[in-house]
Amino acid sequence: MEILDGKKVSNDIKDEIAVEVTKMKANGEKVPHLAAVLVGDNGASLTYVNSKVKSCEKIGFDSTLVKLPDTISEEDLLKEIDALNNNEDIDGFIVQLPLPKHIDEENVLLAVHPDKDVDGFHPTNFGRMALEMPSFIPATPFGIMELLKRYEIETSGKNTVVIGRSHIVGRPISILMSQKGAAGDSTVTLTHSRTKDLENICKSADIIVSALGVPNFVKAPMVKDGAVIIDVGITRVKDETAKRGYRIVGDVDYDNVAPKCSYITPVPGGVGPMTIAMLLKNTLLSRERRKNA
Ligand code: NAD
Repeated sequence: MEILDGKKVSNDIKDEIAVEVTKMKANGEKVPHLAAVLVGDNGASLTYVNSKVKSCEKIGFDSTLVKLPDTISEEDLLKEIDALNNNEDIDGFIVQLPLPKHIDEENVLLAVHPDKDVDGFHPTNFGRMALEMPSFIPATPFGIMELLKRYEIETSGKNTVVIGRSHIVGRPISILMSQKGAAGDSTVTLTHSRTKDLENICKSADIIVSALGVPNFVKAPMVKDGAVIIDVGITRVKDETAKRGYRIVGDVDYDNVAPKCSYITPVPGGVGPMTIAMLLKNTLLSRERRKNA
C-alpha cells in the first residue's frame, strides 16, 4: 500500500508556482493577485481563508482579504463582488461558503465574473469544463486529478465509483474522470444518498472517490483488494486530547481499509492540501490568461 501524499505533492506544486512568480518579478511583470471574500466569522471558514491567504504570501502572490459582517445585505455583497470584478489588479477571487442564510448563494456565485472565478463554481466554467474547453476547474476535483497524474495511477478502463454528487466535488470529479486523457478514460459510477446497494457497487470499484462527509462510511468489506481510495471527506470530531479540542477525519475507516488498498489518501494530508494548491494554480492561470488577452 502506498500513501498518496497530498501534502508533499501540494508543496511541489507550490514550489513550481513560486518559480513562475520569481520569473514574473524578474521580468518586471505583475504577480498574480488572489482576493478572498469572507462574510461573518464562522470559525472553519476563517481557518480556510487564512490558510489560503498565507499560502499566497508564501509563494509570492499578492492577496487581499475582504472581511464583511454577517449582517451585510445581499445587495451590498453583490456590490463588493462587482468591485472585485472590475478591479484590474485582481486576477481571481473566491467567496468563502457557506454564506449567512439571508443571502442567496446562487445569486452570489452567478455574480462572480467567469474570468475571475478561480473556484470554478460559475455555470460558464462548469459548462466549459464538461465540454473539455479551457476553464477554471473546481480546486478539489482539480487536485484529485493532479494527484492521480503525479502518482501515475492507471485510470483508463478502470471502474471508478464516486460517492456524493455535490456540485463542487462528486459531480465534477465524475465528469473529469470519464473524459479522455490522463487520469481520465475511466468508467464512472456516480452514487449518492438514494443509491441502492452501494456496498456491492463499491466492491466492484478499482477506484473509490468518497465525498460525502460521514466518518467511517467506507469500510473494509466495501473495498476490493488493490483498490485506489481517494478520501475527500473532512469532518471535525470532538477530541479532548487534541490541542483544538477536535480532530479532522475523512470518510474512510482508514485503519481497516488501508491494508487492502494499492493507494490511499490520508486525512488530513491527502486531498485537503491539494485543494489550496490548485486554487493557487488557477490564480496563476488567470494571471497568464489576462496577460495574454
Ligand atoms: P455535500 O455535503 O454537499 O453532499 C454530500 C453528498 O453525499 C450528497 O451528494 C449526498 O447525496 C451524498 N450522501 C449523503 N449520504 C449518503 C449515503 N448514505 N450514501 C451515499 N451518498 C450519500 O458534499 P461536499 O460539499 O462534496 O462535501 C463532502 C465532504 O467533502 C465533506 O466532508 C466536506 O467537508 C469535504 N470536502 C473536502 C474538501 C477538501 O478540500 N478535501 C473540499 C470540499 C469538500
